[in-house]
Amino acid sequence: MNIELPKNFVSYEEGKKRGFMRMKELKEQGAKVVGNFCSFVPIEIIRAGGLVPVGLCSFDETTIPAAELHLPRNLCPLIKASYGYALTDTCPYFYFSDLVVGETTCDGKRKMFELMNDIKPTYVMQLPHARTDVALQEWRGEIIRFKEKLEEFFDISISEEAIREQIALKNKEREATKAYLELGKLNPVPISGYERSTLIDSGSYSFSLEDRIQRVIDRTQEVLEDYEKRKESLEKDRPRIIITGCPYAGVREKILGRLDELGADIVGFDTCNGIREKVEQVDENEPDIYLAMARKYLNINCSVMSPNESRIDFLEKMIDEYEADGVVEVILQACHTYNVESYYVKKMVSEKKGKAYINIETDYSQSDSGQISTRLAAFMETISL
Ligand code: SF4
Ligand code: SF4
Repeated sequence: MNIELPKNFVSYEEGKKRGFMRMKELKEQGAKVVGNFCSFVPIEIIRAGGLVPVGLCSFDETTIPAAELHLPRNLCPLIKASYGYALTDTCPYFYFSDLVVGETTCDGKRKMFELMNDIKPTYVMQLPHARTDVALQEWRGEIIRFKEKLEEFFDISISEEAIREQIALKNKEREATKAYLELGKLNPVPISGYERSTLIDSGSYSFSLEDRIQRVIDRTQEVLEDYEKRKESLEKDRPRIIITGCPYAGVREKILGRLDELGADIVGFDTCNGIREKVEQVDENEPDIYLAMARKYLNINCSVMSPNESRIDFLEKMIDEYEADGVVEVILQACHTYNVESYYVKKMVSEKKGKAYINIETDYSQSDSGQISTRLAAFMETISL
């Protein structure tokens, strides 16, 4: 890595571990916890009920063999790992969750949630897969049903005022995170993509949204101040890469780590643990807060939406704004929606923009590390600066 990590850098694993202790303390103080897996879950509603939302473990292979006793092997590793952690009771966040909320995003996930419900109460939000007016009204209704489910399950009442407060706070978090991730637009880049993505991922295990926002704002400020002093000494002319596709946290080392070793600068992340959920805010001026939330969440550029041209348009804009030389698309094995959509991604990147493109289909095992490493090295050679 050409740019040193800061002294107080917290790795993803370390952030997750620290979060366990914080979660235990919260539970001892009587907190009620709602586990979730996906960007489509409207966190504002959970927080407005005074409940603690937490992203559940799904990013490594340890529990996949156990999951495969119940699930087909030919299934996305993220789905198998999510279920495996629940089945083996090895995710402390799942253990501490009182309720799990799933969503009907892809087929594998929505069917897996049926099995998960046998282990812990799992409420599944019915996500429509289009962005039509009918779908918008359907999703609005589904957000209201979710609120009512939380009220009934936890015997609480969730006011519109509380939802509005949480919308405003969550919007601040989106804005701060977006500004931090967009540091990658600077040329040369001030900090590595590895650090940028890790701060965001590990930060999700700090359960105070206010703290998380402040940490991101402080780090952005610190980086910008430092950049002014060091700009001239930073290495220029390194290939600038955008990562797109499936959530990459489970393959971070073998793809992001390797790109780093090969001398690339990962400038942007068009992923749901990157900027994808941060680009659009919930409209705080819309009188119907449920409609405002429905609109925002339905516009998330995930490949489960059909059609999904807005993802291709957004990625094209990113290539220009981040001055990218190439795009690496991460496809988790058996993820049909991203895999099919990669046709349009490749077409836009290679034919329209004339940039380098590679599609890496992989799972959480290390068995293909060597092959990926060789393919990435060959990909890097195709980039002419
Ligand atoms: S890729 Fe889509 S379905 Fe998967 S976690 Fe992200 S938003 Fe949810
Ligand atoms: S990566 Fe693809 S298959 Fe896996 S959970 Fe997300 S949408 Fe589903």
